[in-house]
Amino acid sequence: MKLKLWLFTSAIVLTLAGPQPAWAAKKIRIITTLPELAEFTRAIGGELVEVESLATGVEDPHGVPMKPSFVPKLSRADAVVVQGLELEHAFMPGLIDACKNPKIQAGKPGYIDCSVHVPPLEVPKSLSRTEGEIHPNGNPHYNLDPVLGKMAVQTICEGLVQNFPEHEAEFKAGRDAYLAKLDQKIAEWKDLAGPLKGVKFISYHNEWVYFNHRYGLIYLGTIELRHGIEPTARHVADTIALMKTEHCHIVVREPQFSDRVPNQIAAQTGASLVKLPIMVGGVPEVKTYFELIDYNLKALLAAAKESTPATQ
Ligand SMILES: [Zn+2]
Repeated sequence: MKLKLWLFTSAIVLTLAGPQPAWAAKKIRIITTLPELAEFTRAIGGELVEVESLATGVEDPHGVPMKPSFVPKLSRADAVVVQGLELEHAFMPGLIDACKNPKIQAGKPGYIDCSVHVPPLEVPKSLSRTEGEIHPNGNPHYNLDPVLGKMAVQTICEGLVQNFPEHEAEFKAGRDAYLAKLDQKIAEWKDLAGPLKGVKFISYHNEWVYFNHRYGLIYLGTIELRHGIEPTARHVADTIALMKTEHCHIVVREPQFSDRVPNQIAAQTGASLVKLPIMVGGVPEVKTYFELIDYNLKALLAAAKESTPATQ
């Protein structure tokens, strides 16, 4: 009798307490490739979504090292969000194939490609190996232009609505709130970036074409020989000569690359060496998309100021 009562009471307690309310237990699971795409997705989906990024921000986004945990995460995902334009070509197709999740295969609604509305820059005229095969559909690093970041937010929202139309109102409210904040910052960044117009720099890999297109900086060339190919001594010497002719005083080093050659070039030209993140998490100070754009603009402004000779 006592046992029966205990079982009955336990059943009531379990029913009343419940492990989790139904809405919490059924969060929409989303995997993104980059941290800022996770931030955008969280902003849109709020409490409805559980989002995780495969990259932490310090990796080369062309080749995020694959961990064994990625496949089960993708197997359980309701949708994936990628930057697209073949940025993730070296790792995502293999992972998506391995996870056997029919919802997130390329071309399915659960595969959300943020580049679909982005007008690509630097589209190669021909696909020869000498032109660099890692940007075959044009430069994929549009995340560094916040106006195109807005476009990615829009595309993620469209994708979520297509997959989960029952939450359309919540998604659009989340999107609008985030875009309102981003629009305000975009206006501030435009003013802040004014003195950067015409400022020249080189970097290891060209992640900067969209950023420069937005803010008017002049990109003189890459330290790498071609996309994904290490520099030769001849290329380093040519780069140094070009910097001297062009009076270029800034060398940018992205966190995923060694600072050895950038240091050498900066030392031989007297240029400032600036480490700039190319995604959220690339340096410890940059934990949000707002901080990413802010950090890069301010670091370049400081470097430009440092390299400008005093007029008095
Ligand atoms: Zn690239």
